[in-house]
Amino acid sequence: MAETKKSDLEKLGEKLLFKKKNAWEEIPKKEFDEIMTLSEDYKSFLNNSKTEREAMVTVEKLSKKFGFVDIKKAKKTDRKLFINYDGVCGAMLVIKDPKTLKDGLLINGAHIDVPRLDLKQIPLYESEDMAYMKTHYYGGIKKYQWVTRPLALHGVIVTENGKKINVSIGEKQDDFVFTINDILPHLAQDQYKKTPATVIEGEQLNILVGSIPYKFKTGKDAIKLAILDYLNKEYGIKEEDFVSAELQLVPQGEAKDIGFDRSFVGAHGQDDRICAYLGMKAIIDMKEKEFKKNIMMVFFDKEEIGSAGNAGADSNIVERMVNDVLNLYGLGDYNTLIKALENSKLLSSDVNAGIDPEWKSVNEPMNAAKMGYGVCVTKFTGSGGKSGSNEAHAEFVADLRKALNKDKVLWQSSELGKVDQGGGGTIAKYLAKYGMDVVDCGTALLSMHSPFEVASKADIYHTYKAYKAFYKYL
Ligand code: MN
Ligand code: MN
Repeated sequence: MAETKKSDLEKLGEKLLFKKKNAWEEIPKKEFDEIMTLSEDYKSFLNNSKTEREAMVTVEKLSKKFGFVDIKKAKKTDRKLFINYDGVCGAMLVIKDPKTLKDGLLINGAHIDVPRLDLKQIPLYESEDMAYMKTHYYGGIKKYQWVTRPLALHGVIVTENGKKINVSIGEKQDDFVFTINDILPHLAQDQYKKTPATVIEGEQLNILVGSIPYKFKTGKDAIKLAILDYLNKEYGIKEEDFVSAELQLVPQGEAKDIGFDRSFVGAHGQDDRICAYLGMKAIIDMKEKEFKKNIMMVFFDKEEIGSAGNAGADSNIVERMVNDVLNLYGLGDYNTLIKALENSKLLSSDVNAGIDPEWKSVNEPMNAAKMGYGVCVTKFTGSGGKSGSNEAHAEFVADLRKALNKDKVLWQSSELGKVDQGGGGTIAKYLAKYGMDVVDCGTALLSMHSPFEVASKADIYHTYKAYKAFYKYL
C-alpha cells in the first residue's frame, strides 16, 4: 500500500500547533515500568504521612537515609541539609556552593497540610446514651463527603508538663475506627430540601466514639466518663489535655490503585503531598553532578487555611530558613539574605483540577488540565479576573518551558476552571513578595479536597520529571 502523503495543511499543523499528548500513547516499556514503580513509592509515602507532623517524620527519616544533616547539628562543610521547624514544616537543601547563595536558590515549595476534620479542643459529649466527639473542619471541604465512612484519628496531645503523646488509631487491621452518621433516606425529606452546603452542617460533623457506661451502670456522664477512663488508662490524659492537642480525623485506610489497568492512585491528602513527595524524591534520586545551583525543597503547613501562622507561606518562614543556612556558612548579613531571596526562583508546586467528564461545564477545555496529559504549568491562579494571583512573568514561564522540553517532560498549560467559575490560590503570591520569580506547577487531580482524591500515574511521573528538570536547568 502506498504511503499517504501529508497535505500542506497537515505539515503546517505539525509545525505550528501546540498539541496536547496522551502520556500513555506509545509509551516505551521501560517508562511504563518506571511509572508503576514510582507510584508504589508514592503510595507508601502517603500511607506513612497522614498528617503534616507524620509527613515531616517521614521526610526526616528519608533525609537521614540519604545523607541530609539536620541544620542544628550541621558543620560548615556539610552540603546536604535538613530543616525541621516545630515538626510541622521544613526543608531539604542541596548546597552546591555557599558562596553563590546570594545569587539565589532554586526553591520548590509544596504544602503538607490537607483538608480534614480536627477534633475540637473540648470534644467529648454524651447524647441519647452514646458518646460523641465534636470536630471543626480544616480547609475547604464538602461536608457531606465526610459522613458514613470509617475515619482514623491521628495527631498529638501535649500535656501541661510538655509530654508529647502520639496518637494513631484506626489504621491497623484490628484497630477500631470512628464515623459520622447521616440520616436514613426514609426520613430525609427535610434534609433533601437543603442545599449541598448545608445538607450536613458543620456542627453535625460529630464522630461516634462509644456507648458503654462506666462499670456498666448508667448515670449522668457515665458513658463520657467511661471514655475518659479509657483514655486515661491508655494515654495518661484527662479532659483538659484535649485543649493542647492536635487530633485530626482522616479517612481510614491505605492509598489504592484505581481501575482495571491500575492507571490512577486514589487517596486522601494528595493535595499537596503529591508535589511534596515528588519534589523530595526528585532531589533524592538526582546525582550530585546534576545540580548546578543551590536547591531547596520546602514543606509548608497551613496552606489550606490561607498559608497563615508561623508555619505557613504567608509568614517569613523561607526567610528564616535561608537565614539559618547563611548563618551556618558564616554569611548571615541582611544584604546577603535579601539578595538570596530576591534572586531565587520558586516553583509553587501544587495540584490543579483535571477535567472530569461528568462536570465538564466548569472548565474551558482548551486551557484546562487533562488527566494523563502530563504535569500542569499554571501561569496564574486566583479568581474573578485573576484576583489574588501571583501571575508569573512570561520570561520565567519561558525558562520553565525550555527546561521541561529539554528533558522531554510531558506538560500542559492549565487554568483552574473557566473564567468566573470560581478559582483558588497557592503559596505563590506569598513568596513573590521577596522579589523572586514564581510559577505554579503540579499534578492534576479529580475529586480535589475530597476524602479520596484521584491522580493519574502518568501525571505523577511527569511531575517528578518536571521537578528534576527544574533543579537541573533553571
Ligand atoms: Mn494545594
Ligand atoms: Mn488545596
